[in-house]
Amino acid sequence: MTHAAIAGAGLVGRLLAWRLARSGWQVSLFDRAGRRDRTSAAHVAAAMLSPLAERASADAEVFALAQRAMVLWPEWLDELHQDSGQAVYHRREGTLVVAHPADRPMLNQLEQVLRQKLPAAHHAAVKPVGRERLGELEPALAGRFENGLHLETDGQLANDQLLEGLSVALDRLRVDWHEHCAVQSLADGVVQTADGPVPADLLIDARGIGAQQAWSGLRGVRGEVLTVECAGLSFNRPVRLMHPRYQLYIAPRPGHRFIVGATELESEDAGPVTLRSVLELGSALYSLHPAFGEARVIDLAAGLRPAFDDHRPALRQQCGVWELNGLYRHGYLCAPALVEQLLRQAVR
Ligand SMILES: Cc1cc2nc3c(=O)[nH]c(=O)nc-3n(C[C@H](O)[C@H](O)[C@H](O)COP(=O)(O)OP(=O)(O)OC[C@H]3O[C@@H](n4cnc5c(N)ncnc54)[C@H](O)[C@@H]3O)c2cc1C
Repeated sequence: MTHAAIAGAGLVGRLLAWRLARSGWQVSLFDRAGRRDRTSAAHVAAAMLSPLAERASADAEVFALAQRAMVLWPEWLDELHQDSGQAVYHRREGTLVVAHPADRPMLNQLEQVLRQKLPAAHHAAVKPVGRERLGELEPALAGRFENGLHLETDGQLANDQLLEGLSVALDRLRVDWHEHCAVQSLADGVVQTADGPVPADLLIDARGIGAQQAWSGLRGVRGEVLTVECAGLSFNRPVRLMHPRYQLYIAPRPGHRFIVGATELESEDAGPVTLRSVLELGSALYSLHPAFGEARVIDLAAGLRPAFDDHRPALRQQCGVWELNGLYRHGYLCAPALVEQLLRQAVR
């Protein structure tokens, strides 16, 4: 058996540890936080899997990774179910994009941009919908919007269930998980940790924004989300509201819960959500449907998306260490494809 040591137990680190452990590796996993601490981007994310909606701003490489990830997610979630006994909420009902009458030009512009940027094979999945169809797709929004865009092949998953399922699977696969154990450096077959040096055959750095000293140009992009519970309201898919000031999305979760986000601020402040963000996200949400006025705010969370200047993920090997970082706002969208690439190159 060969031994892998992974720094960071966020999204990338957990997925890598699981794939390696289930193929027979002995795995040591180190994280500066506890497994349920909500300090990683992985815990804060809305976990929408939206290759189409994101293509408006993301480049072709991200779109190609996302296409592969959309194939891998259902397979991996089935395997995770076998390994952990836990099912993860995962849907592929598309994204519904709507706009208030004054902002309708933004909706038309989005459609044009997507038709320019998407390969022709995906054009059919970008469906303009009128009032009636919109009400069929999302009965809770019936009569509230005249037009929308249904991006039919987008999806979503519940990241809290995924991270918990991975945690259970890693325990069952006897991964040696060191919580509250920061990694100072990795090089030449040794991980330097707060508890001392650990030698391994395969070293992987998956520390997200925590790897800033090792990657020049890596920055944090602050994002804030609210979780609300609104009895009586349910959506079948993530809904995005076009707005000149905020790009609001509402990602539904079981139990009439909704993740509402997200701010995108050029700031590395990981402190609590600001009042301004609560007001802006909250009022945009209320404008989508007045029933949200009575929603209970269950949680407020902020996190840092690890990003490079070009907003593309990067995979490299240096001093015997495999490093995967810069997943920005596309971690859930792309992670399985990137993890697959890393393992294909590192484990021959
Ligand atoms: C508000 C918000 C919304 C988002 N929504 C989406 C979305 O809808 N869809 C999507 O695809 N993506 C989304 N993302 C992006 C996604 O969450 C990230 O791209 C992804 O989590 C990055 O994964 P990672 O493993 O590289 O980093 P992280 O998930 O941040 O994990 C890094 C881990 O490394 C640990 N660590 C750091 N330093 C050290 C150290 N020195 N030693 C040991 N451990 C260390 C941290 O504690 C953490 O557990 C969102 C992000 C945010 C913030």
